Amino acid sequence: MKNPKTSFSQSNSFCGSFLVLAVCLLFAGPALAQTEADRPASEPASSEQRAELNLKAARENPLQLRHFLLGMPKGGDLHNHLSGAVYAESWIRAAAEDHLCVDIARLAFARAQALLNGGAEPACGDGQVPVAEAFKDQELYDALVDAFSMRGFVAAPGVTGHDHFFDAFSKFGGTDHRHLGEWIDEVATRAAAQNEQYLELMHTPEFSHTVAISREIGWREDFGALRDALLARGLRDDVTLAKTSMDQAEALRMKREHCGQADAAAGCKVQVRYLCQVLRGFPKEQVFAQTLMCFETASADPRFAGINLVMPEDGYTAMNDYALHMRMVAFFRALYPKVHVSLHAGKLRRALCLTRDSAATFEWRSRRLERSASGMAWT
Ligand SMILES: [Zn+2]
Repeated sequence: MKNPKTSFSQSNSFCGSFLVLAVCLLFAGPALAQTEADRPASEPASSEQRAELNLKAARENPLQLRHFLLGMPKGGDLHNHLSGAVYAESWIRAAAEDHLCVDIARLAFARAQALLNGGAEPACGDGQVPVAEAFKDQELYDALVDAFSMRGFVAAPGVTGHDHFFDAFSKFGGTDHRHLGEWIDEVATRAAAQNEQYLELMHTPEFSHTVAISREIGWREDFGALRDALLARGLRDDVTLAKTSMDQAEALRMKREHCGQADAAAGCKVQVRYLCQVLRGFPKEQVFAQTLMCFETASADPRFAGINLVMPEDGYTAMNDYALHMRMVAFFRALYPKVHVSLHAGKLRRALCLTRDSAATFEWRSRRLERSASGMAWT
């Protein structure tokens, strides 16, 4: 069988846009490059028939099917949490480079108490070892990969997939921001390998200054006054920081992929945009301030296509403040109409909505979902 990936790349000039996946699948096929005169009389006449035959053949062989699907043009990935998309092995390597420690009981990274030997060796606390020990201890390495991912996970009483999944995010934190360009490179390179054309990566820019001033100002019911107070206290400093950080990250990505050079990697062709993440599981003044920071960032930097609220939807604060969070989003969207809003709406279900208020929230959310065609993306 001819290589379908090669043929797709020759024939998918209209397949780079979204929502054309099925059309591309139907009409792109290995025989597409042939001319009518070249085709033996015994071959099927239409590209649809040829694509159907290729898919039929691939279905009978798992390796062939994988190859077929790998080369199939995917369009855009619009829901990709960047930190969750980075492989566990990459987190371990970065943490070792940053001289972090690992808390053995929690299987989570921890900051070193001090750095010895000119900064090359971490002094770790009780119950901790340097992350680099994992390279000499396969059991520790395997345990970290399992803790940071769903690899080998089997649900057991008291240990749900939901909890294992969400707990992982706090375990691999603490590495230096300079790795951001490596992560974008890793994800873009993988996207290119499976013939994706566009990525919209969810990313949380540094926002410690925003948190600090939100705590100093506290909560105010008047959204306009609260926004003015945050801006007056220098919230836009974090917007500048987000832009600078992204400049450095994208420069590193381009360097690693040799973009613009003769030997440019395939990842260079993957267009990447970002959604600024708001952490919804924190006090309302912080959520408000970070939402403002994200709307400001997306307004100032076109690489940020919009915003999204993250963290478990069934968490106490996420549920309790849900209506308030939606009022915040509506307030800011009116002020920043060009910023896109992408919201999670798929995890909640009746079994998770234990209180009357939660059930009401669920129904209200459903009604919003029905009206979602007006500039909001629900995922
Ligand atoms: Zn998500």
